[in-house]
Amino acid sequence: MGNSLSNTGILILTHLDTVHPHGSFGEDRFVIDGDRVTGPGILDMKGGAYIAFQALKLIVSSTQKPSLPIHILCTSDEEVGSPTSRSLIEDAGNSAKYILVTEPARDGGKIVISRRGVGRYKIITRGLAAHAGVNHKDGSSAIREMANQILKIENMTDYARGVTLNVGKIKGGTADNTISDYCEATVDLRVESSKLAIEIDSNLRSLKPLQKNTQVLIEGKMNRPPFSQTKESRELFDKASAFATEVGFELVGMHTGGGSDGSFLAEKVPTLDGLGVDGVGPHTLTEYLKISSLQPRMNLLRKLILNLT
Ligand SMILES: [Zn+2]
Repeated sequence: MGNSLSNTGILILTHLDTVHPHGSFGEDRFVIDGDRVTGPGILDMKGGAYIAFQALKLIVSSTQKPSLPIHILCTSDEEVGSPTSRSLIEDAGNSAKYILVTEPARDGGKIVISRRGVGRYKIITRGLAAHAGVNHKDGSSAIREMANQILKIENMTDYARGVTLNVGKIKGGTADNTISDYCEATVDLRVESSKLAIEIDSNLRSLKPLQKNTQVLIEGKMNRPPFSQTKESRELFDKASAFATEVGFELVGMHTGGGSDGSFLAEKVPTLDGLGVDGVGPHTLTEYLKISSLQPRMNLLRKLILNLT
Protein backbone atom coordinates (compact mmCIF):
# COMPACT_ATOMS: atom_id res chain seq x y z
CA MET A 1 0.00 0.00 0.00
CA GLY A 2 1.12 3.60 -0.31
CA ASN A 3 3.44 5.09 -2.85
CA SER A 4 7.16 5.45 -2.30
CA LEU A 5 9.12 5.82 0.89
CA SER A 6 9.42 9.56 0.27
CA ASN A 7 6.05 10.56 1.61
CA THR A 8 4.56 11.39 4.93
CA GLY A 9 2.57 8.32 5.74
CA ILE A 10 2.32 5.81 8.53
CA LEU A 11 5.21 3.43 9.07
CA ILE A 12 4.35 0.18 10.82
CA LEU A 13 7.43 -1.46 12.32
CA THR A 14 7.56 -5.14 13.16
CA HIS A 15 10.32 -7.71 13.56
CA LEU A 16 10.22 -11.43 12.82
CA ASP A 17 13.31 -12.62 14.71
CA THR A 18 13.41 -13.92 18.27
CA VAL A 19 16.06 -14.63 20.89
CA HIS A 20 15.59 -18.39 21.18
CA PRO A 21 18.30 -20.60 19.66
CA HIS A 22 17.08 -22.98 17.00
CA GLY A 23 15.47 -26.07 18.52
CA SER A 24 14.95 -24.66 22.02
CA PHE A 25 11.23 -25.38 21.94
CA GLY A 26 11.57 -29.01 20.88
CA GLU A 27 8.62 -30.68 19.19
CA ASP A 28 5.95 -28.70 21.03
CA ARG A 29 6.69 -25.41 19.37
CA PHE A 30 3.14 -24.20 19.03
CA VAL A 31 0.72 -25.09 21.79
CA ILE A 32 -2.76 -23.71 22.31
CA ASP A 33 -4.09 -24.03 25.84
CA GLY A 34 -7.29 -22.12 26.57
CA ASP A 35 -6.55 -18.42 26.04
CA ARG A 36 -2.81 -19.03 25.75
CA VAL A 37 -0.64 -19.79 22.74
CA THR A 38 2.98 -20.67 23.44
CA GLY A 39 5.72 -20.50 20.82
CA PRO A 40 9.11 -19.02 20.01
CA GLY A 41 8.73 -15.26 19.59
CA ILE A 42 4.95 -15.53 19.53
CA LEU A 43 4.52 -12.58 21.86
CA ASP A 44 7.69 -10.69 20.89
CA MET A 45 6.57 -10.18 18.29
CA LYS A 46 5.12 -12.53 15.75
CA GLY A 47 1.71 -11.82 17.27
CA GLY A 48 2.23 -8.12 16.57
CA ALA A 49 3.25 -8.78 12.97
CA TYR A 50 0.19 -10.99 12.59
CA ILE A 51 -2.30 -8.37 13.78
CA ALA A 52 -0.67 -5.74 11.58
CA PHE A 53 -1.15 -7.98 8.55
CA GLN A 54 -4.72 -8.78 9.56
CA ALA A 55 -5.50 -5.08 9.93
CA LEU A 56 -4.04 -4.32 6.49
CA LYS A 57 -5.84 -7.30 4.95
CA LEU A 58 -9.19 -6.05 6.25
CA ILE A 59 -8.47 -2.54 5.02
CA VAL A 60 -7.49 -3.76 1.53
CA SER A 61 -10.73 -5.69 1.21
CA SER A 62 -13.02 -2.95 2.53
CA THR A 63 -14.23 0.26 0.92
CA GLN A 64 -12.98 2.51 3.69
CA LYS A 65 -9.48 3.69 2.83
CA PRO A 66 -6.86 5.39 5.00
CA SER A 67 -6.04 9.01 4.23
CA LEU A 68 -2.30 8.46 4.65
CA PRO A 69 -0.06 6.07 2.71
CA ILE A 70 0.88 3.00 4.74
CA HIS A 71 4.20 1.18 4.86
CA ILE A 72 5.01 -1.88 6.86
CA LEU A 73 8.62 -2.82 7.52
CA CYS A 74 9.37 -6.33 8.81
CA THR A 75 12.94 -6.74 9.97
CA SER A 76 14.84 -9.78 11.17
CA ASP A 77 17.63 -8.49 13.42
CA GLU A 78 15.84 -6.45 16.08
CA GLU A 79 16.86 -8.67 18.97
CA VAL A 80 20.54 -8.17 18.24
CA GLY A 81 20.25 -4.38 17.99
CA SER A 82 19.25 -4.06 14.30
CA PRO A 83 22.77 -3.86 12.85
CA THR A 84 21.64 -4.38 9.26
CA SER A 85 18.18 -2.83 9.34
CA ARG A 86 18.82 0.36 11.29
CA SER A 87 19.56 2.52 8.22
CA LEU A 88 16.48 1.11 6.47
CA ILE A 89 14.33 1.93 9.50
CA GLU A 90 15.78 5.43 9.67
CA ASP A 91 15.23 6.05 5.95
CA ALA A 92 11.64 4.87 6.10
CA GLY A 93 10.96 6.51 9.44
CA ASN A 94 12.47 9.91 8.75
CA SER A 95 9.87 10.64 6.12
CA ALA A 96 6.97 9.14 8.07
CA LYS A 97 4.34 11.20 9.81
CA TYR A 98 3.68 8.55 12.44
CA ILE A 99 5.39 5.35 13.50
CA LEU A 100 3.41 2.46 14.96
CA VAL A 101 5.43 -0.35 16.53
CA THR A 102 3.83 -3.71 17.19
CA GLU A 103 6.12 -4.80 20.04
CA PRO A 104 4.14 -6.69 22.70
CA ALA A 105 1.81 -4.90 25.07
CA ARG A 106 3.00 -4.77 28.68
CA ASP A 107 1.47 -5.58 32.02
CA GLY A 108 -1.99 -6.51 30.85
CA GLY A 109 -2.32 -4.47 27.68
CA LYS A 110 -0.41 -1.26 28.33
CA ILE A 111 1.42 0.38 25.46
CA VAL A 112 4.89 1.81 25.59
CA ILE A 113 5.39 5.57 25.57
CA SER A 114 9.01 5.73 26.70
CA ARG A 115 11.98 3.38 26.76
CA ARG A 116 15.45 3.26 28.20
CA GLY A 117 18.43 3.65 25.90
CA VAL A 118 20.44 0.51 25.23
CA GLY A 119 24.20 0.10 24.90
CA ARG A 120 25.96 -3.08 23.79
CA TYR A 121 29.63 -3.62 24.60
CA LYS A 122 32.28 -6.30 24.43
CA ILE A 123 35.03 -6.30 27.04
CA ILE A 124 38.21 -8.17 26.22
CA THR A 125 40.96 -8.98 28.69
CA ARG A 126 44.37 -10.20 27.62
CA GLY A 127 46.91 -11.81 29.95
CA LEU A 128 50.00 -13.98 29.77
CA ALA A 129 49.65 -17.71 29.18
CA ALA A 130 51.63 -20.16 31.28
CA HIS A 131 51.53 -23.84 32.30
CA ALA A 132 49.35 -24.16 35.38
CA GLY A 133 51.70 -26.75 36.88
CA VAL A 134 55.15 -25.88 35.59
CA ASN A 135 55.40 -22.08 35.72
CA HIS A 136 52.18 -20.83 37.29
CA LYS A 137 53.81 -17.68 38.65
CA ASP A 138 54.90 -16.51 35.17
CA GLY A 139 51.32 -16.33 33.98
CA SER A 140 48.77 -13.57 34.29
CA SER A 141 45.22 -14.80 33.97
CA ALA A 142 42.88 -13.00 31.60
CA ILE A 143 39.96 -14.81 33.26
CA ARG A 144 40.91 -13.55 36.71
CA GLU A 145 41.28 -10.03 35.28
CA MET A 146 37.84 -10.33 33.71
CA ALA A 147 36.34 -11.51 36.99
CA ASN A 148 37.60 -8.32 38.65
CA GLN A 149 36.35 -6.13 35.81
CA ILE A 150 32.91 -7.75 35.92
CA LEU A 151 32.51 -6.74 39.54
CA LYS A 152 33.43 -3.16 38.67
CA ILE A 153 31.06 -3.15 35.67
CA GLU A 154 28.08 -4.63 37.47
CA ASN A 155 28.64 -2.27 40.41
CA MET A 156 27.90 0.62 38.04
CA THR A 157 24.23 -0.45 38.21
CA ASP A 158 22.24 2.26 39.96
CA TYR A 159 18.50 1.53 40.11
CA ALA A 160 17.75 4.92 41.69
CA ARG A 161 19.17 6.75 38.68
CA GLY A 162 17.78 4.30 36.12
CA VAL A 163 21.06 2.64 35.13
CA THR A 164 21.57 -1.11 34.79
CA LEU A 165 24.49 -3.14 33.47
CA ASN A 166 24.44 -6.85 32.83
CA VAL A 167 27.29 -9.13 31.82
CA GLY A 168 25.28 -11.61 29.81
CA LYS A 169 27.88 -13.81 28.16
CA ILE A 170 31.46 -14.72 28.92
CA LYS A 171 34.06 -16.94 27.29
CA GLY A 172 37.77 -17.44 27.56
CA GLY A 173 40.64 -19.76 28.34
CA THR A 174 42.21 -22.58 26.34
CA ALA A 175 42.68 -25.57 28.67
CA ASP A 176 42.21 -26.67 32.29
CA ASN A 177 45.96 -26.65 32.83
CA THR A 178 46.74 -23.33 31.11
CA ILE A 179 46.61 -19.89 32.63
CA SER A 180 44.38 -18.08 30.20
CA ASP A 181 45.63 -15.24 28.07
CA TYR A 182 42.23 -14.31 26.65
CA CYS A 183 38.72 -13.69 27.92
CA GLU A 184 35.77 -11.76 26.57
CA ALA A 185 32.40 -10.76 27.98
CA THR A 186 29.38 -8.85 26.71
CA VAL A 187 27.71 -6.01 28.56
CA ASP A 188 24.15 -4.80 28.13
CA LEU A 189 23.68 -1.24 29.39
CA ARG A 190 20.30 0.46 29.94
CA VAL A 191 19.99 4.15 30.75
CA GLU A 192 17.19 6.60 31.40
CA SER A 193 18.74 9.62 29.64
CA SER A 194 21.32 10.60 27.03
CA LYS A 195 23.33 12.31 29.77
CA LEU A 196 23.62 9.04 31.69
CA ALA A 197 24.53 7.25 28.47
CA ILE A 198 27.55 9.52 28.03
CA GLU A 199 28.55 9.15 31.68
CA ILE A 200 28.42 5.35 31.82
CA ASP A 201 29.98 4.98 28.38
CA SER A 202 32.95 7.00 29.57
CA ASN A 203 33.19 5.00 32.83
CA LEU A 204 33.32 1.79 30.82
CA ARG A 205 35.99 3.20 28.54
CA SER A 206 38.16 4.14 31.48
CA LEU A 207 38.32 0.64 32.97
CA LYS A 208 41.96 -0.14 33.78
CA PRO A 209 43.62 -3.52 34.38
CA LEU A 210 44.14 -4.45 38.03
CA GLN A 211 46.86 -7.07 37.53
CA LYS A 212 50.24 -6.66 35.93
CA ASN A 213 50.77 -8.05 32.42
CA THR A 214 47.10 -7.71 31.54
CA GLN A 215 45.17 -5.44 29.22
CA VAL A 216 41.52 -4.41 29.14
CA LEU A 217 39.98 -3.48 25.79
CA ILE A 218 36.48 -2.27 25.16
CA GLU A 219 34.38 -2.35 21.99
CA GLY A 220 30.82 -1.23 21.37
CA LYS A 221 28.64 1.78 22.01
CA MET A 222 25.13 3.00 22.70
CA ASN A 223 22.91 1.12 20.32
CA ARG A 224 19.48 2.64 20.80
CA PRO A 225 18.95 6.10 22.30
CA PRO A 226 16.58 6.63 25.23
CA PHE A 227 13.06 7.32 23.98
CA SER A 228 11.05 9.80 25.99
CA GLN A 229 7.58 11.01 25.15
CA THR A 230 7.51 14.18 23.03
CA LYS A 231 4.52 16.55 22.86
CA GLU A 232 3.66 15.11 19.41
CA SER A 233 3.83 11.54 20.69
CA ARG A 234 1.61 12.56 23.59
CA GLU A 235 -0.97 13.86 21.09
CA LEU A 236 -0.75 10.63 19.13
CA PHE A 237 -1.23 8.69 22.36
CA ASP A 238 -4.35 10.73 23.17
CA LYS A 239 -5.83 9.92 19.74
CA ALA A 240 -5.03 6.23 20.17
CA SER A 241 -6.55 6.30 23.59
CA ALA A 242 -9.83 7.67 22.20
CA PHE A 243 -9.82 4.95 19.51
CA ALA A 244 -9.18 2.29 22.15
CA THR A 245 -12.21 3.47 24.09
CA GLU A 246 -14.31 3.05 20.93
CA VAL A 247 -12.86 -0.45 20.47
CA GLY A 248 -13.76 -1.24 24.05
CA PHE A 249 -10.64 -1.07 26.18
CA GLU A 250 -8.70 1.49 28.12
CA LEU A 251 -5.29 2.40 26.78
CA VAL A 252 -2.62 2.92 29.41
CA GLY A 253 0.88 4.17 28.62
CA MET A 254 3.95 3.04 30.50
CA HIS A 255 7.71 3.20 30.65
CA THR A 256 9.88 0.16 29.95
CA GLY A 257 13.57 -0.68 30.17
CA GLY A 258 13.45 -2.69 26.95
CA GLY A 259 14.80 -1.08 23.78
CA SER A 260 13.11 -1.39 20.40
CA ASP A 261 13.36 -0.18 16.83
CA GLY A 262 10.82 2.45 17.87
CA SER A 263 13.60 4.17 19.82
CA PHE A 264 15.58 5.20 16.72
CA LEU A 265 13.16 7.90 15.60
CA ALA A 266 10.90 8.55 18.57
CA GLU A 267 12.49 11.93 19.30
CA LYS A 268 11.70 13.13 15.74
CA VAL A 269 8.56 11.28 14.65
CA PRO A 270 5.47 10.72 16.84
CA THR A 271 5.72 7.06 17.83
CA LEU A 272 3.50 4.58 19.60
CA ASP A 273 5.15 1.36 20.71
CA GLY A 274 3.82 -1.79 22.35
CA LEU A 275 0.77 -1.86 20.05
CA GLY A 276 1.18 -5.61 19.61
CA VAL A 277 -0.55 -8.42 21.43
CA ASP A 278 -0.86 -8.97 25.15
CA GLY A 279 0.86 -11.88 26.86
CA VAL A 280 3.50 -12.93 29.35
CA GLY A 281 7.18 -13.89 29.38
CA PRO A 282 8.88 -12.41 26.29
CA HIS A 283 12.33 -13.97 25.70
CA THR A 284 11.54 -17.02 27.84
CA LEU A 285 10.56 -20.57 26.93
CA THR A 286 7.16 -20.01 28.52
CA GLU A 287 6.43 -16.96 26.35
CA TYR A 288 2.75 -16.87 25.39
CA LEU A 289 0.18 -14.54 23.87
CA LYS A 290 -3.42 -14.17 24.95
CA ILE A 291 -5.81 -15.10 22.18
CA SER A 292 -8.38 -12.73 23.68
CA SER A 293 -6.07 -9.80 22.97
CA LEU A 294 -5.79 -10.44 19.20
CA GLN A 295 -9.12 -8.94 18.16
CA PRO A 296 -9.09 -5.74 20.26
CA ARG A 297 -5.43 -4.96 19.53
CA MET A 298 -5.98 -5.56 15.81
CA ASN A 299 -9.06 -3.32 15.91
CA LEU A 300 -7.06 -0.54 17.53
CA LEU A 301 -4.32 -0.78 14.90
CA ARG A 302 -6.90 -0.78 12.12
CA LYS A 303 -8.58 2.29 13.56
CA LEU A 304 -5.26 4.10 13.84
CA ILE A 305 -4.32 3.23 10.26
CA LEU A 306 -7.72 4.32 8.93
CA ASN A 307 -8.16 7.47 10.94
CA LEU A 308 -4.80 9.12 11.41
CA THR A 309 -4.50 12.20 9.24
ZN1 LIG B 1 10.57 -7.35 20.12
